[in-house]
Amino acid sequence: MAVVCPECDNPLSIDDDEVEEGETLQCDECGVELEVVAVDPVELMALEEDGYDDEDAAHLNDEDEE
Ligand SMILES: [Zn+2]
Repeated sequence: MAVVCPECDNPLSIDDDEVEEGETLQCDECGVELEVVAVDPVELMALEEDGYDDEDAAHLNDEDEE
């Protein structure tokens, strides 16, 4: 099963029998956290470490209304 890291294209050896949807893994190469978003076939999504993007957007909307 050839799955590559979405951040650095490092080939990851992931057995699709060993991962579950919603599980998080870490790339050995770049250290990014990866969430398993699908298992058939395995699909990974990089997780942002700072989760402030949404809050910033909400704050900007607040300012717009004033
Ligand atoms: Zn990586």
